[in-house]
Amino acid sequence: MIAVAERKTTRRTTTTPQPTPCETCKGAGEVSRTVRVGRKHRVVGQQTGLCLTCLGSGEAPTE
Ligand SMILES: [Zn+2]
Repeated sequence: MIAVAERKTTRRTTTTPQPTPCETCKGAGEVSRTVRVGRKHRVVGQQTGLCLTCLGSGEAPTE
């Protein structure tokens, strides 16, 4: 009888805890920010940088 052993592996739905997505980057791990240059802070575009809230993991800090 092998059927009993096979049933055990299919019940893994609600046991795994879901990580909370970072609020700053919405779980992406990186954020886009405006790049400004010069004394007048002229906007030259946007660049994507590492999210400093979750440090790129995309998960909210557990504190
Ligand atoms: Zn983040």
